[in-house]
Amino acid sequence: MHILLDQLEINILTPDNDDLKRIENLAKATGDINGLSPVDLDVLALAMSIDGGIATDDHRVQNVAESAGIYWIPVIGEGISEKWDWIMKCRGCGKIWPSEMDIVSRECDDCGSEIRLVRK
Ligand SMILES: [Zn+2]
Repeated sequence: MHILLDQLEINILTPDNDDLKRIENLAKATGDINGLSPVDLDVLALAMSIDGGIATDDHRVQNVAESAGIYWIPVIGEGISEKWDWIMKCRGCGKIWPSEMDIVSRECDDCGSEIRLVRK
């Protein structure tokens, strides 16, 4: 009986490998992978596997959860209001412009190339 319970617990607490892979890929895509521990990834994958939610104040975990469509709530903090931080970057010379600059002009004053909104 005891062994059965242990097995049951392991089954519940071990995320599906496919889900873990999916979370890893998502975390790579959002750029959060380097700041996440294996446990963070497990928790995220587990939440995905069991269709559960996460209570966390870790913005990287929140970001990946958001991307994965996983429900999350902050523990103490207020959470993130937006998914990404964006910067205005010139395609030509790579100069980073203040984000509050006029988005309509979209032309680099230095080299005349297109300025694009990219994720930080
Ligand atoms: Zn430029």
